[in-house]
Amino acid sequence: MNYPFTLPELGFGHDALEPHIDSRTMEVHHGKHHQGYVDKLNAAIEKYPNLHEMSLEDILKGIASLEVDDADRIAIQNNGGGHANHSLFWEIMGPEKQIDDILSKEIAETFESIKNFQEVFADTAIKQFGSGWAWLVRDEEGKLDVYSTANQDSPYIQGHTPIIGLDVWEHAYYLKYQNKRPDYIESWWNVLKVL
Ligand code: MN
Repeated sequence: MNYPFTLPELGFGHDALEPHIDSRTMEVHHGKHHQGYVDKLNAAIEKYPNLHEMSLEDILKGIASLEVDDADRIAIQNNGGGHANHSLFWEIMGPEKQIDDILSKEIAETFESIKNFQEVFADTAIKQFGSGWAWLVRDEEGKLDVYSTANQDSPYIQGHTPIIGLDVWEHAYYLKYQNKRPDYIESWWNVLKVL
């Protein structure tokens, strides 16, 4: 059968984010971890043809009311979130800055300065206990906000639109940074192309 969800191609080579994110980490993260979320998401929705016609964003926004078995709901939340989160992650990173001036200005206005935003965001990412993500989102009123989520929970689940997301699962940084999550975060700003 044709599976509705597929692994997006990276817009750059595995080694393009060196030395900040190492080639081996990118290879495993994209090719194994992200592929795993895609495969398990497709498996979880296989018996629900109506979900094959929906966007992942809509599936996640409506996760609580989907007419699916409870075990499948959990699998869709985890693996659908994993697919959405990583797809955004690859999109906002790159070897060359493509700074979004409008977004930068809005962030500076909301958080007093870009530097202050980076401090708030990094602090949120560091304090996320265990696996999860730090986010800059646009909430239901259109305002920017920073928070973290556990596991692969997507901001779409609470009706927010993720704009910048940082993966703080150990698989994202352990090979190069081991337990030094703050060092990974500090280095990551260099490959976040939109800011
Ligand atoms: Mn990851």
